[in-house]
Amino acid sequence: MRILVVEDERGLAEALRRGLGAEGHWVDLAHDGQQGLAMARTAGPYDAVVLDVMLPGLTGYEICARLRADGDPVPVLLLTALDGEYDEAEGLDAGADDYLTKPFSFVVLAARLRALRRRAAAGGPAPAAVLQAGDLVLDKAARRCRRGDREIELTARELGVLACLMAAPGAAVAKRDILDEVWDSPAGIDPNIVEVYVSSLRKKVDAPFGRRSIRTVHGLGYRLAPDDA
Ligand code: CA
Repeated sequence: MRILVVEDERGLAEALRRGLGAEGHWVDLAHDGQQGLAMARTAGPYDAVVLDVMLPGLTGYEICARLRADGDPVPVLLLTALDGEYDEAEGLDAGADDYLTKPFSFVVLAARLRALRRRAAAGGPAPAAVLQAGDLVLDKAARRCRRGDREIELTARELGVLACLMAAPGAAVAKRDILDEVWDSPAGIDPNIVEVYVSSLRKKVDAPFGRRSIRTVHGLGYRLAPDDA
């Protein structure tokens, strides 16, 4: 894989270059936000971009949001020194595909990058039929979503979570089942992480349309009420 790592801690950046290089990847480094954005735009294409969040110049969130604004679908993994729902939600809003909280294990980083590439290579979930629930339509193959005639931008993981709910409209789907379906390495991940994505989905597919279609099923997970207006 060709990977761009944007990280201002030189020691960590060099360690990532050595480690990923030893696994056969080509790694470019940038040490500030402006340089990182410029390289992502002109030195690629990259198979993945690893962005530290706290950077001089532009933050990792800003770099990611600008790449998405360019229409660049490159898989982005954010490295954050903070954890908690707020930061991940911000990363999702910026269009990041995954995140890792520092300090992280190199083995986990390498596995996450492989998973991002698999997803990108597969063009997302299997090209099944277009899913429909009321006026909500999800084209899994094209990774596009719309409600009525308004297109909704979703990240890969939001799309996966929504597809789980839309595959069985009206039926309760357990958080654990969503985790197993959407995450590449679900072992050891708290199923409550799904809440973060559901919260972000509600802000995109429900709130702007005055809907409450994604319902909480207490103690279990969620269900989609497609015709809720
Ligand atoms: Ca930093």
